[in-house]
Amino acid sequence: MLVCMLTAVCLLLTTVRANLSGTTVHSGDCVCVSGTGVRARDRAGLHGTSVVGTYNTGTCFKIYGGILTTDGFKWYEVSNGGNRMWIAGNFLTKGTSSQCAAGSCSAEQKRLACELAGSANVQAAHVHPSGVHDGAYANNNLHDMCNGLKAQRSHYTCAECRSPGAPGGTTCLSLNLLKFLQDLKNHGRVIINELSGACHGCSSRHYSGLAVDLHNDARSSEYMTKCKTHGGLPLDEGNHIHCQFYDGAHPNW
Ligand SMILES: [Zn+2]
Repeated sequence: MLVCMLTAVCLLLTTVRANLSGTTVHSGDCVCVSGTGVRARDRAGLHGTSVVGTYNTGTCFKIYGGILTTDGFKWYEVSNGGNRMWIAGNFLTKGTSSQCAAGSCSAEQKRLACELAGSANVQAAHVHPSGVHDGAYANNNLHDMCNGLKAQRSHYTCAECRSPGAPGGTTCLSLNLLKFLQDLKNHGRVIINELSGACHGCSSRHYSGLAVDLHNDARSSEYMTKCKTHGGLPLDEGNHIHCQFYDGAHPNW
């Protein structure tokens, strides 16, 4: 707001955005991304640095220690699965310790994700059909899980979920889902459109790591059959086959 004093000197009092730059944080504190496609860099600053990842609202990291002001931003060094990277404070908020204490995915989930990520038979998408850019593409999901991280979820709205939209944050891709995909790739080429990323219905199992969208191709009837064999529910959505799992609960056929 603009405050004009008696002397006609006007002071521009800007409302401080909820960002980390004005907050005191210490090594080990939990901070969470606020935004979509927020870039993390190998060093502090915009110039001469490389983007090492993009993250969405709800993804949380522990402060590693470094804080540097450069290129108009205050940069925070955070730890991501043992790797260090820098994020501008304007896109971070302080989290709770529980947000950073979330358990990791199992060793078997990690192993299967690596097998899929490294297979020439698996083509995992590097885009969302929506055109939104973030770090939650199917390809990101498999590589993150292989690297011992959780798979990212998108954070944007769509016609299927106008509010609150895709939730952001991260999830583990379920074991049943990964075994289903392993079976498919062992028998030929498969194109994965989406895993935990993109915006779907508000209660979509994609957000829980329990659903996959497969490009509808010559193997579609096999996708439908094997989805059921592995305990899932297949849906032919036209341009893709959606297969969702129930984590122990029985689907309502
Ligand atoms: Zn789907």
